[in-house]
Amino acid sequence: MERDALGEIRRYLLARRGSGVEVAYRMAADAIPAEGSRKNAREIVVITSPAVERKPGIRVTSGQPAVEQASLFGEPVRKRGLDLSGFDLAALDELVSKCERCDLSGGRTRTVFGSGNPSSKIVFIGEAPGREEDLQGLPFVGRAGQLLTKMLAAIGFAREDVYIANILKCRPPGNREPQEDEMTACEPYLLRQLELIKPAMICALGRIAAHGLLKKTTALGILRQGVHYYNDIPVAVTYHPAALLRNPNLKRDAWEDLKTMRKLYDEAVREGE
Ligand code: URA
Repeated sequence: MERDALGEIRRYLLARRGSGVEVAYRMAADAIPAEGSRKNAREIVVITSPAVERKPGIRVTSGQPAVEQASLFGEPVRKRGLDLSGFDLAALDELVSKCERCDLSGGRTRTVFGSGNPSSKIVFIGEAPGREEDLQGLPFVGRAGQLLTKMLAAIGFAREDVYIANILKCRPPGNREPQEDEMTACEPYLLRQLELIKPAMICALGRIAAHGLLKKTTALGILRQGVHYYNDIPVAVTYHPAALLRNPNLKRDAWEDLKTMRKLYDEAVREGE
């Protein structure tokens, strides 16, 4: 049984070099009989993940599950096996451009790190790059992006005034929804971006962004109605611009969200002064 489990985990890791440490740890812990399972699981992961250990900036925590506690605005956050504390935005962008932590890396043209003003007091977070974004390496440059630019202008922001990023840095095939393992793999990059930018306010665009950031599964319609917090930073939730393109009837509600968001932003900035 143990030998079978070992073989299976080795095959799994070999097939997904560089991305499976956390999953493998869990698989190993599940697959091996209770006696000594945690120790064995760690050994298997450490033995079978040299490809990950060689990656710059990625620390495999040998002998520990690949989940670390780190500090974000003084709060412990899960960094999921990545120590990015020494990375500024440029270095992080460079690291992301070489990332192979999930299978999406195999299908991308370019990574989409984020764009805009890194000193901005507001960060907009979308879901994942689409076709245009994947080609250009910039977030929200396709049709949804053009609408986002108009939405921003309607509440007095130019694109250059704000910072825009996504939950995922690589395009999912055919623009399908991000999968949980992809979101987990990519999360440390966005968290480090937020840690560096220190916005006074965040706007989550759509369900995936809201759920990914807030770690909630509440319906978007409910999330839109409240103010949420990510490490004490107010988070407003509204529709994703692509949803507004698909269903223009939602635009009226989105406009109300935007006006509320602008007020929240003004308050948050005033309080921070
Ligand atoms: N949709 C997103 O969520 N992000 C982009 O960058 C483009 C489209």
